[in-house]
Amino acid sequence: MGQLEREVMNFNVNEIFFSIQGEGSRAGRPCLFIRLTGCPLRCVYCDTTYAYSEGILRELDDILDEVKTRLGAPGQGPNAPFVELTGGEPLAHPNAPVLLQALLDLGHEVALETAGSQDISMVPRGVVKILDRKTPGSGEVEHWLESNLDFLVPGQDELKFVLKDEGDYHWAKGWCEEHQLLDSLDVLFSPVWGSLDSAWLAEHIVADHLPVRFQVQLHKLVWDPNQRGV
Ligand code: SF4
Repeated sequence: MGQLEREVMNFNVNEIFFSIQGEGSRAGRPCLFIRLTGCPLRCVYCDTTYAYSEGILRELDDILDEVKTRLGAPGQGPNAPFVELTGGEPLAHPNAPVLLQALLDLGHEVALETAGSQDISMVPRGVVKILDRKTPGSGEVEHWLESNLDFLVPGQDELKFVLKDEGDYHWAKGWCEEHQLLDSLDVLFSPVWGSLDSAWLAEHIVADHLPVRFQVQLHKLVWDPNQRGV
């Protein structure tokens, strides 16, 4: 990547904010979120519709400067702040892999939240990929690139299911079993906030002895569920 090309590389940024990670295996850890604008999907429960179009163009180096200012030197501990690239759909930006590599080069732990419709093969090694497999209840189950499963790294990456109703639970369970994923990948099941009862989900995971990680969106318990920037 030449210096000139890097200097003119822009990203449509919806927001950058520092908060507590509310989801996934890093839930509870401090995290700097970089939310890019735009998403080709329209999940019925989407809680970031404001990211479909709101945003400003920012140069790569400007984004990196803000990361350096807000996080300082990379921490070393297991709960050190990390950086997560999210959206919208960050991989809808063709230069997202460049941004991810640049964030890694700063020395921080870097995670990527992405739906399964975009090719993840170009994501740099070392980036923690959190892949959201859309379910029938989302309305976007057909937006899925099956080959993405080949690029999930066991022990590093996560496969997440956000379940809208009881039918979604049974579908996700069957899909994981059919693809023989439960013995190799970190699979997460979470209820759609305000739609699927979290106790129902927890009880069925227990009753079925399903080896998945149950989770809820911590930030919606702590703050107003509709609050932005948390
Ligand atoms: S993929 Fe994410 S950002 Fe896009 S519509 Fe679905 S929930 Fe919203």
